[in-house]
Amino acid sequence: MNFYILTLFPDMVMQGLNTSIIGRAADAGIVHIEAVNIRDFSQNKHHKVDDYPYGGGAGMLMQAQPVYDAYQSVAERIGRKPRCIYVTPQGSRFTQKDAKEFALEKDLILLCGHYEGIDERVLEEVATDYMSIGDYVLTGGELPAMVMVDAISRMVPGVLSNQESGSFESFEDNLLEYPQYSRPEEWMGKKVPQVLLSGHHKNIEIWRRQQSILRTKERRPDLLEQAQLTQQEKEEL
Ligand code: SAM
Repeated sequence: MNFYILTLFPDMVMQGLNTSIIGRAADAGIVHIEAVNIRDFSQNKHHKVDDYPYGGGAGMLMQAQPVYDAYQSVAERIGRKPRCIYVTPQGSRFTQKDAKEFALEKDLILLCGHYEGIDERVLEEVATDYMSIGDYVLTGGELPAMVMVDAISRMVPGVLSNQESGSFESFEDNLLEYPQYSRPEEWMGKKVPQVLLSGHHKNIEIWRRQQSILRTKERRPDLLEQAQLTQQEKEEL
């Protein structure tokens, strides 16, 4: 899968994504991650990419032309107009379900805003999706784009090794993952739950499912409303 991140800070994005699992997947050619510097497309002799908003108000706005030309450079190179996510606090909240859906794309453009955002006219031309990573305002779209590329890449076949992908994860079936423990069996007087040491796979599965439900109830009751629970599980709750 190919990611093209349109940004004013290409180094920030690339340095954040070239390590660990995603970096390994990029090295192996399973994902291709490319930062496109919007400033390279400025027609201004000082490489300016922002200007004052019409109607007044605080801050500067990224101008339409350099953003559009950066987008076009990718679209022309790959011979099509791929889906283009504008990362914005005004978008719909990015979820694991979205990560799975975007992972089906061959090419994906992520457009990062800065300052007060981007001239609306170019967004109307290029953005197919508006996505937010949460209800707070960041200084730029680079961190949200990195978050999304990471979450989407994990869903691309081959990015996670069998060992990494084999287990149940949070948000599967609208439940959070159960608590996990590693060696030693006792640490600071706290013991690993006995059932996990028993080797009894069925009991371990039952315990994990119960813990998942309890944890979701405690921490994310909103999720639990969408979870598929058996009649017995509902009664136990
Ligand atoms: N003036 C804008 C508003 O009120 O909606 C906020 C602009 S913000 C300071 C600058 C850029 O950061 C945005 O254009 C967007 O790309 C990015 N950004 C900030 N918060 C974000 C969030 N929660 N999710 C996704 N992108 C975000």
